[in-house]
Amino acid sequence: MFVYLDNSATTRQYDQVTLEMKQAMEDLYGNPSSLHSLGLASEKRVRAARQHLAESLGAREDEIIFTSCGTESDNTALYGIAHAKRREGKKIITSKVEHPAVLEACKVLEKEGYNIEYIGVDDKCRLDMNQLKAAIDDETILISIMAVNNETGTIMPIQEIAKMKGKAVFHTDAVQAYGKIDLKHTGADLISVSAHKIHGPKGMGALYVKKGINLPAYLVGGGQERHMRSGTENVPGIVGFDAACQIAIPNLNERVAKMAEVRDYLKRGIEDQIKDIKVNSPDDGAASVLNISFMGTRGEVLLHTLEQDNIFVSTGSACSSNKKGRSHVLAAMGLKDKEIEGAIRFSFSEANTIEEMDYVLDKVNAAVTRFRRLGSFR
Ligand code: PLP
Repeated sequence: MFVYLDNSATTRQYDQVTLEMKQAMEDLYGNPSSLHSLGLASEKRVRAARQHLAESLGAREDEIIFTSCGTESDNTALYGIAHAKRREGKKIITSKVEHPAVLEACKVLEKEGYNIEYIGVDDKCRLDMNQLKAAIDDETILISIMAVNNETGTIMPIQEIAKMKGKAVFHTDAVQAYGKIDLKHTGADLISVSAHKIHGPKGMGALYVKKGINLPAYLVGGGQERHMRSGTENVPGIVGFDAACQIAIPNLNERVAKMAEVRDYLKRGIEDQIKDIKVNSPDDGAASVLNISFMGTRGEVLLHTLEQDNIFVSTGSACSSNKKGRSHVLAAMGLKDKEIEGAIRFSFSEANTIEEMDYVLDKVNAAVTRFRRLGSFR
């Protein structure tokens, strides 16, 4: 059996996505900016994709910028708003558990003289809303809080944050939320999404920018994306993103129900069969993620042992290149070193089955038992 449980790192492209991208590569090679019919054909297809993506976020077509990835969307939002509003204040609020695409941008802004306040979380990665409330003041120009945490699946109360933001601009990194929870009524001013987390192509993202928000361009040049993001459009990537969006979003409830079924089954099985574990994901988290610490083991060794049985999981976050680093998310949750060391993230898609979970349960149980008996057996 072959079981892919690393869907929060990236997903397998839907076959329809690959098919439509191949067609676009063969036929839609005109530059959308060209005035001839080949250019117009590409432009028309990009416009249709933009319309579909906008609908999926409850937005208007002219509120969507295509980018090269979720990281670019996050960087664009943070640098853009910070620079545009620098005369109004210097305070930026974020959380300790953001993806590096936000945290590293904050570090750069800190060096430029901005004050960054990092909001903490509890042991299930739930945001400290009292700390957030107390932090928001007249100096605050930007709040960036993710919609779903990539390591635990914790859903952040973004609607509530949108209501209490004051005069600040509110950005949410919804890379792990898109296609897992409804994002049509978030109240956020800026939303980052990425195609490869919803079975679309890698290297393709988008940023929702609410009408009226002044976001200076991050990439300047030919003036594409209404001068907000220059560079010839990645037409096959946009077509692939659109194809994924049109499958993932209308079928969101059915997809999430399937993920929840396998996640709950695996969680129950692990709780019943394996002693000394700690579930780090909250019960009401996104259905796509289950993070568990297996005490007295090393997550990295478990990962490679499971790989020998064709089971693919992750320790913490695999979507940053700092793969061996200690999880800053689990550390912010107050987990002990031993709990962080033994953590495994199982992340699901609608393609996973109960039969696969039975196989995974068996192999995880065997690997944990063996590790505990022998210590590190590598
Ligand atoms: N934000 C979150 C929460 C993520 O999980 C990821 C994962 O990679 C990113 C941002 C970065 O997205 P991308 O890989 O498209 O740059």
